[in-house]
Amino acid sequence: MWIQFLGTGDAFCSGGRFQTCFLVKVPDYCFLIDCGATSLLAMKQSNIDSNLIDGIIISHFHGDHFGGLPYFLLDANFSGKRKRALTIAGPPGVAVRVEELLVTSYPTVDIDHLTFAVEFIEFRENQNIAMGPLQLESFPVVHVPASLPHGIRVNHHNTTLAFSGDTGWTDNLYKIADSADLLICECNFFSTELPSHLNYRKITVERDNFNCKRIILNHLGKEMLDNMAACKLECSSDGMIVEI
Ligand SMILES: [Zn+2]
Repeated sequence: MWIQFLGTGDAFCSGGRFQTCFLVKVPDYCFLIDCGATSLLAMKQSNIDSNLIDGIIISHFHGDHFGGLPYFLLDANFSGKRKRALTIAGPPGVAVRVEELLVTSYPTVDIDHLTFAVEFIEFRENQNIAMGPLQLESFPVVHVPASLPHGIRVNHHNTTLAFSGDTGWTDNLYKIADSADLLICECNFFSTELPSHLNYRKITVERDNFNCKRIILNHLGKEMLDNMAACKLECSSDGMIVEI
């Protein structure tokens, strides 16, 4: 599994970083995890054609995680003249949320009349769902409830990529991380404690309780960036590539 961190910043693009978006490739499938409002720009800076993308997984309905979908869909429609279907997976109600976002952004664009079909898959709690060759698991996490926040695990053959989504502390993080090859974990703050986000100190204390091979921190806010020199855990940066 080949992973490029396209966006590693918080909602405010602290440090000039793009909002959350990861490009992931397995031999037979290419997908995004989250598509923040800045994601099309991040893709174009890395010369990534939207036609390469088979599917997009959305962790929750906040603009810095799914606000880039209207631009992605329009680019695929008008620039890419995309023909093959695009799959979008996300929390329950994902089809309505994406359609509302698209029609609010571009009132004359109808998701049912693009040059390609959009197929939606809803997360189902405690169930694996298939997305192409992938098996997805989703777990509720602790963030703004109206955004339906989820952590996810993406399984492909014997490889597991885990992602916390946006969350404060929850024991579900142990399940999300369990036996994963990589956990991408949000770390919005260095030491500030909020119920809706994690901080570096808490992740450091819990690191040995996560049963995963590797942890990389993302969603880095200003306080975290200001304290990077003190960080011993691995942090992501825009454009960084890892293989697991
Ligand atoms: Zn966020």
